[in-house]
Amino acid sequence: MNDRFVDYLKENEEEQIINLSLRPANLSEFIGQEDIVASLKIAIEAAKGRGEPLEHILLCGPPGLGKTSLAYCIAKEMGTTLTSTSGPAIERAGDLVGILTNLEKGDILFIDEVHRLSRVIEEFLYPAMENYQIDFIVDKGPYAKSIKFNLKPFTLIGATTRKGSLTAPLRGRFGLFFDLDFYPAGELVWVIRRSAALLGVEIDGPSCELISVCSRGAPRLANRILRRIRDYAQVKGEGKITLQITEIALDKIKIDTQGLDDLDRRYLATIINVHRGGPIGVEAIAATLGEGKETLEDVVEPYLMKKGFLRRTPRGRVASRNAYTHLNIPLPQDQQENFF
Ligand code: ADP
Repeated sequence: MNDRFVDYLKENEEEQIINLSLRPANLSEFIGQEDIVASLKIAIEAAKGRGEPLEHILLCGPPGLGKTSLAYCIAKEMGTTLTSTSGPAIERAGDLVGILTNLEKGDILFIDEVHRLSRVIEEFLYPAMENYQIDFIVDKGPYAKSIKFNLKPFTLIGATTRKGSLTAPLRGRFGLFFDLDFYPAGELVWVIRRSAALLGVEIDGPSCELISVCSRGAPRLANRILRRIRDYAQVKGEGKITLQITEIALDKIKIDTQGLDDLDRRYLATIINVHRGGPIGVEAIAATLGEGKETLEDVVEPYLMKKGFLRRTPRGRVASRNAYTHLNIPLPQDQQENFF
């Protein structure tokens, strides 16, 4: 599997540390997603007025759009502590008992990739979410005993890249739902300016704009590209990020002006060259590319659909006219009318 520059699913340790410093500290620093921020501000004010914790919140959207950041901002605004974990990290009910019983009133439990919780853990969570209670079974067989724990009222914030994979009972236990969307380039310019200031690097306007259109609508990628270009500027230039440096660096990391990287282009080229433009199932594309189906569905496809390069149909994936044009491949003469 190749090491993708835009692979948001993985964040190495260095990046996690830098991202912490670039993370918006409160809702006023959170750029964009205005409707979500406005609704959250009202919910927070109302909950604070009643002296109650917030309802459980579900944040949905592709990786790198700010779900984790938003959860931290909510905790900050509520003046409470956030404990962070993820679906795959909770293997046994016992792991969760420790976390839940340590929460203070109003605290936030953030579960990333909440769709990946096992069924057993999910069922264990239901009474915790509903009545702040858990039943923990100790011992097995005839000696099994159920111990009831009363928890302090807390807020669960779940984040997911796959809303459709969440079970109905779990989804039904959240009170507030927010779908984060890709950021328009104009908003990413602000993310880039803010991050450059925090990183202490000078950047000109045209560079900000070029990075913003190459960041596939995701602040995490905008920050990643910015850091890479900063290194170039330091080594090849005089420290300042100029358009010339930006263009050279983007060319090296193979991101084009539509924000597509090598895998995006290979994905489209596979549909076009191997499967005559589709429709074709994602499994077949994944097999040809040697990539995981999940990576394609979570990371590659949402952005290609957003850009109008791809459509998902019941019969499979179909490449658009724009995809042919972008890859410089002529449309097949005999079926021009079939393309959207
Ligand atoms: P997700 O949880 O959706 O994968 P994160 O919250 O981890 O995304 O965001 C990744 C990085 O992008 C953060 O560290 C932060 O620096 C930046 N970021 C995300 N959303 C915003 C935003 N609205 N404003 C400013 N920076 C943001």
